[in-house]
Amino acid sequence: MKDKVRLAMVVGILATLLVAPGLFPAPAGAPAPAEPASLPEPGPAEAPPAACCPHEHEAPAGPVKTAYLTFDDGPSEVTLDILDILGDFGVPATFFVCGNHWDFGRNAYRRMLDEGHAIGNHSYTHNLTRIYASAAAFWADFDRLQHLLEEATGDRPPIMRFPGGSNNRFARRELMDELLAGLEERGIRYFDWNVCSGDSAVLGQDPEVIIRRVLDGVRGLDEAVILFHDSYSRATTVTALPVILEALLADGFAFRTLGPDSTGVQFPR
Ligand SMILES: [Zn+2]
Repeated sequence: MKDKVRLAMVVGILATLLVAPGLFPAPAGAPAPAEPASLPEPGPAEAPPAACCPHEHEAPAGPVKTAYLTFDDGPSEVTLDILDILGDFGVPATFFVCGNHWDFGRNAYRRMLDEGHAIGNHSYTHNLTRIYASAAAFWADFDRLQHLLEEATGDRPPIMRFPGGSNNRFARRELMDELLAGLEERGIRYFDWNVCSGDSAVLGQDPEVIIRRVLDGVRGLDEAVILFHDSYSRATTVTALPVILEALLADGFAFRTLGPDSTGVQFPR
């Protein structure tokens, strides 16, 4: 997307929000799971190898509030637009990726790390009924992606996010207990979220809804783990993102990536 077009979009949407009373109502911010059972798809592209070195965006003086931008279900063409925007703003994010063994996918994984972002495992197939059928099925899918990521980037991510979140309705409680124990054994930390952008609630979600949900959701939070999606159908996430970043920066948020030592957010068990 061209900078001027994006700038015009940011200004336009901000102006709309500023003159519309009641768009930022009372504090919100409860965990809001919402993820469809979608599958990632392959695609084309190019990029160089990588090392993991998350960077940070310094916040203005005052109490430190941290925003963790997280993007699930990529990589896709949408991912590339999101990487461009994050680069323009100089803020890092965490990508909970799925499996894409094509050059496009491998290059996208490498670009994420090269540009200072973090990668987490979000399952190879995102096929909820299949991966939550048994622990063996889950680990086969999980390890397949760990292997691909190691092959593409040289690293196996030490973090992950369960497709559908750790409280998804596809995994029986006993199975989830077993999976959590398995993650601990492997030294892998999982993350849920406490702000849901709603970008996957409907196809082509209105960008103003995404903006409002995030800005309402972060109110009162010192640590906001914000759920977005960067699968093929999430073009309006790209439209909403610059407005959200402007607002969060103005509000004093610093941006960091999630890692094995982050507190982050896990849904209550
Ligand atoms: Zn997902």
